[in-house]
Amino acid sequence: MSAKILILGGSFGGLTTAFELKRTLGKDAEITVVSDLDRFIFIPSLPWVAMGWRRPEEISLYLEKILEPKGIEFIHEEAKGVDADSSKVHTLSRELDYDYLVIATGPALVFSAVPGLGPEEGYTECIFTLEQALRCNEAWRRFLEDPGPVVIGSVQGVSCFGPPYEYAFEIDAELRKRKIRHKVPITFVTSEPYIGHFGMGGLANSKRIMEDSFAEREIQVIANMAVEEFTPGEVRLKDGTKLPFKLAMFAPPMSGVQAVFHLGNPKGFIPVDEHYRHKDYKNIFSVGVAVAMAPPEQTPIPTGLPKTGYMTVKMAKHAAKMLVSDITGKEPPDVESLDAICLMDMGDTAAMMKADPVLPPRQEAELKAGIQYKWLKTAFEKYFLWKIKRGLTQLP
Ligand SMILES: Cc1cc2nc3c(=O)[nH]c(=O)nc-3n(C[C@H](O)[C@H](O)[C@H](O)COP(=O)(O)OP(=O)(O)OC[C@H]3O[C@@H](n4cnc5c(N)ncnc54)[C@H](O)[C@@H]3O)c2cc1C
Repeated sequence: MSAKILILGGSFGGLTTAFELKRTLGKDAEITVVSDLDRFIFIPSLPWVAMGWRRPEEISLYLEKILEPKGIEFIHEEAKGVDADSSKVHTLSRELDYDYLVIATGPALVFSAVPGLGPEEGYTECIFTLEQALRCNEAWRRFLEDPGPVVIGSVQGVSCFGPPYEYAFEIDAELRKRKIRHKVPITFVTSEPYIGHFGMGGLANSKRIMEDSFAEREIQVIANMAVEEFTPGEVRLKDGTKLPFKLAMFAPPMSGVQAVFHLGNPKGFIPVDEHYRHKDYKNIFSVGVAVAMAPPEQTPIPTGLPKTGYMTVKMAKHAAKMLVSDITGKEPPDVESLDAICLMDMGDTAAMMKADPVLPPRQEAELKAGIQYKWLKTAFEKYFLWKIKRGLTQLP
């Protein structure tokens, strides 16, 4: 009898796990992907959507079209809850039972963390979902008609720090191209103890390189800072500073999503062992942003550890191997330490970041800037989408 494997989430984690399991188990597994989105979105390109440098169709693939030909069932529905004791998932219209469950639901965005934060009930833009990036692009186009101060950053409790950096550098580059940079004071506010910390305790000389990069572009930096509130047109910082803005984009903190919150830590992130298996439920695995991971250090203003796409793919590949070992009785895979490689856009250039392992002390850590990384980032977007379309999971 083939094992029933249910995967929640159809993004980096969910798709990698599904493809990897199908490739190794073939007909020995019945694999179903459940996703509230009908598409895979290449999230790292969302800042480019916000800038108007990419259209949604250039960075998205329909899940049904890529999963069904591989013999993987796709259910386009939101999981509403998981009953881990009876191994069942509920959606609005059905109950799905499973032998194994893989939670790859990514984050919920917690805009309620700071009054006035966020595009829906607040006054700031965000670029973490396709919808938000498109909305941010509309705000950007209105802004260009009547430019003024821009404030970009990450509030207290953020873990995904990269996108505000990319957005700040991209705005700077675009304004210079349009010859209106002199009309726009840009301020970067972050809860990181210093610029270039990235929630990872920094990477080699990342502090110096980032400080220089912001200074060269005349972007004012306020680090180690929490935000009291956002009001229409103003950011109020905890130290009393008030920053007026015509456009503000801030990263929000994250939690686990509602459907699996009860299986997680107090923030709803799933506690797993070194094989990404749930600490209490042996037939539940979790990969990607949904996983609970402690930050490397306590920072004066709370920050979290980023879980990048590269890390997510690595977790998914390992979890799939462990699942295969459970099902087939093969040797379990060796425990691997998690490393990270990331390409960060810097508008007119880009940077390559490497951390091995992710948490310090490290064997290898570096951040290097150069135009070749911009070309690499553009090529990687195309390569990754090409791979996902064909159900391939190799890392470069
Ligand atoms: C703007 C931005 C830029 C980034 N840039 C980079 C980069 O350059 N390099 C890099 O390595 N990483 C980058 N990252 C991080 C990277 O996007 C994440 O690590 C990656 O998306 C995590 O994959 P995931 O599968 O864990 O979660 P997600 O990609 O968040 O996917 C989770 C999926 O689950 C679905 N889902 C959620 N709840 C339910 C439910 N109840 N039922 C069914 N489906 C559900 C969601 O709709 C979503 O499709 C960036 C992140 C952001 C926000």
